[in-house]
Amino acid sequence: MDAAEFRRRGKEMVDFVADYQENIEHRRVYPDVEPGYLRSMIPSEAPLEPESYEDVLRDVDRVIMPGVTHWLSPHFYAYYANSTSFPSILADLLSSGIGTIGFTWAANPACSELETVMLDWLGKMLQLPEDFLSETQGQGGGVIQGTASEATLMALLSARLKTVKCVQESDPQRSEADIISKLIAYTSEEAHSSVEKASIIGGVVIRMVPTDEHFSVRAETLEKMVAEDKATGYIPFFFCATLGTTPCCAFDKIDELGPICNAENIWMHIDAAYAGCAFICPEFRPLLNGVEFADSFSINPNKFLLVGFDCSAMWVKKSADLTRAFQMDPEYLKHEHQGSGWCNHLHQPYSTHKIHWGIPMARRFRSLKLWFVFRMYGLRGLQAFIRKHVELAKTFENLVRGDNNFEICAEVVMGLVCFRLKGSDELNKALLKQITRTGKIYLVPCKLRGRFVLRFVVCGRTTELRHIQEAWKHITELSSELLQNLFD
Ligand code: PLP
Repeated sequence: MDAAEFRRRGKEMVDFVADYQENIEHRRVYPDVEPGYLRSMIPSEAPLEPESYEDVLRDVDRVIMPGVTHWLSPHFYAYYANSTSFPSILADLLSSGIGTIGFTWAANPACSELETVMLDWLGKMLQLPEDFLSETQGQGGGVIQGTASEATLMALLSARLKTVKCVQESDPQRSEADIISKLIAYTSEEAHSSVEKASIIGGVVIRMVPTDEHFSVRAETLEKMVAEDKATGYIPFFFCATLGTTPCCAFDKIDELGPICNAENIWMHIDAAYAGCAFICPEFRPLLNGVEFADSFSINPNKFLLVGFDCSAMWVKKSADLTRAFQMDPEYLKHEHQGSGWCNHLHQPYSTHKIHWGIPMARRFRSLKLWFVFRMYGLRGLQAFIRKHVELAKTFENLVRGDNNFEICAEVVMGLVCFRLKGSDELNKALLKQITRTGKIYLVPCKLRGRFVLRFVVCGRTTELRHIQEAWKHITELSSELLQNLFD
């Protein structure tokens, strides 16, 4: 494909994507295919000779589209959203088109610098304490990780190294292996599975902290567990708080947990993957009070800020905690500006060398997505988007509350409504099975206090009141049939 053909095909592809999104609500949101459907539809080996673009595109319609779950559909109410937008898609196109890889400042100055400034912009939108911003005289700053899981892992690994060094300072004879075998991390029993995974990768023990009646971790509970573990020789070193848990969007009480973590030298990371985006609205910002006690904090703009996957924003109070843990300096990464200004702040060694802030060396130009979206929506536009989703979720909650057959299972704070039919888990599983089978809307379940619960998340950029009303009508029709069969 030469530039002339790319020009033509590119325009066609933009039309294809625009048509897809404009008409997406007429598609079945959940595909009607069986596992393994694809293998028999394409050859078992890559072609030896080049094929035509027309052939490839034809197979997009024949092979790919039938197996796509349409995350951008207004009928998609599962997981937490992938909230992309047209400006974000264009920024991604530009990023792919430039094809530049920004691991050090020299590898791509614009990529390194824009990322640092965008994380400051976003940090200010969230009213983060200055400690987390890199433009101030502090030692903090932000980085874009691929996912919230990576942000949690980086925080845990940094905390692990910091604690090992700290213990060895007072007890130089103690081996690293011995210290690591005694480290203990904590997170909510409601936390995302990625926190437990981080502990497995980090080779440390993790304890799940029980939650109160609002599914929140409270100070007293954590304090008691820390005391017990210290008494048996463990070294508490890491606590991952969640703001907006995956099952029901509950909030740990970070303002009371933070002081305990600080007093016990426990690194507090806050995983606010979904809900953190809403803190750009002043009415939700109080949920972030206590962030000043945290060592690191992350949100996923790709969940609720109109930025496409992947984009997880992570801030640390002391960037040196990350860079010290992960700094490698091979000769091929050195460059002439290494020791100056942006590339080596006095307190922030290699602050724009994001390679030292994460696992991969190569990094995409993801900050372009933030820049395009922030400028084309403005803070006001993003706030309006979040408020609309919360409003629609409240409407759905009211519909559920108005029907005696159903119950609400957790407080509705943002765009997630947890609900179930009054009755057995089997009844609710049967309802979800019917919903999935018909494919008109798509939801996933969760477990709350051992009970099977349905999650309804307002996800789509184009979801309107009528979609919510249609979804509820569909759910009540299916549930009426189920209840009818039960009594027949
Ligand atoms: N943390 C929370 C609270 C989440 O809700 C999720 C996913 O929904 C994750 C972490 C995982 O996010 P990622 O896929 O970016 O790793």
